[in-house]
Amino acid sequence: MMQGFRDIPEGHITLKNATVPGCCVGADEDLVTTDISIKDGKISENPGTPVDLANAMVLPCFTDMHTHLDKGHILPRAANPDGSFMGALTTVAADRSANWSAEDVATRMDFSLKCAFAHGTKAIRTHIDSLSPQDEISWPVFAEMREAWAGRIELQGSSLIGCDSYESIKDGYASSADIVAEHGGIFGMVTYPVPDLKQRLGEFFDLAGARGLEADFHSDETMDPSSETLRLIAEMVLEAGWDRPVTVGHCCSLSAQDEARAFDTLDLVANAGLNIVSLPMCNLYLQDRLTGRTPRGRGITLVHEMKARGINVSFASDNTRDPFYAYGDMDMIEVLRQAIRIGHLDHSDPDWFTSVDANPRNAMTIATSKLAPGETADLVICNARRWSELFARPQSDRIVLRGGRAIDTTLPAYSTLDHLMEIA
Ligand SMILES: [Zn+2]
Repeated sequence: MMQGFRDIPEGHITLKNATVPGCCVGADEDLVTTDISIKDGKISENPGTPVDLANAMVLPCFTDMHTHLDKGHILPRAANPDGSFMGALTTVAADRSANWSAEDVATRMDFSLKCAFAHGTKAIRTHIDSLSPQDEISWPVFAEMREAWAGRIELQGSSLIGCDSYESIKDGYASSADIVAEHGGIFGMVTYPVPDLKQRLGEFFDLAGARGLEADFHSDETMDPSSETLRLIAEMVLEAGWDRPVTVGHCCSLSAQDEARAFDTLDLVANAGLNIVSLPMCNLYLQDRLTGRTPRGRGITLVHEMKARGINVSFASDNTRDPFYAYGDMDMIEVLRQAIRIGHLDHSDPDWFTSVDANPRNAMTIATSKLAPGETADLVICNARRWSELFARPQSDRIVLRGGRAIDTTLPAYSTLDHLMEIA
């Protein structure tokens, strides 16, 4: 059983000399040295047996608000032919039709959840491919997983189809909307700049509104500056006075647009109160990819400019070992490390940690976890005393405390998926 770089005793203890992000304890400083007492599995005001952490960093367990657990780990049987977005779409569609039985989806979902849990994640939103008849297979599996993992990982599901999947969104997507409502899910769609997008979005919001559903979009996952579906979503939310949470993921095309136009869209997004989730690893993999040509663009959306406008920005894993992203392990330290490097979040505000903690929790409307007395002691302790040490190494020897107890951080073996990977 792997438990990290040192032993942390159970019981009533005080972690002395812990280094924590200032934003997690309501301080303005980048990092703060503090003591954290744990009693009965919760952070406590009462000091216990001292355990000197020697300035090791302590983080609250992570929230990963945009994943695709149903697609994860199909890569060995469904490789992207050329690493392109179109290659990903077509490869996944073929694999889904051929292989996504309940057992197949459940086994791969469970594998990803084991990885996430071992890395210190405690809440996840997954998108679920919901083109009929897959919705009837995958949503019951999702419900079983949510139940099986309750208490370890809080799971949310969001449906996913392309906005052009049906001739009419109103008719074609209605039964999925019912399934989503039945399972307490979020209603989602991929928006492409199709000529009648406004009508399709109107029908989407009607379906969501009639069932009281929140919305989560994949939008403008392209470096084509003319793709402005985020702008249309913001306009429609403002126009309709829509007040349920709306999240929009990707928004890559903003980075290729004329700045004045992009900033004008961001002002609309801020006014509409949209939550934005950026998927920097998947974007770096798919965007600006042309065979034989070195990529120039990074694909990441305008996160600094969004933050400056008060827009709620999160980072998340997105895909894991599938045609949309060939790598990844549901590790939010990796996600934040890559976001920092790709988006130059260093030499910037000190509170970007909120983008994998408080911000996604706000977007998912789940309680924000602070490193404060009364909170469950769900903590990640790293053998690093500052950000440069944290992000220089993979932190494979991190300690994950859940309810004050160190969990087994052994990762599942890929070989446990081998039986699913014979080509159908
Ligand atoms: Zn996605």
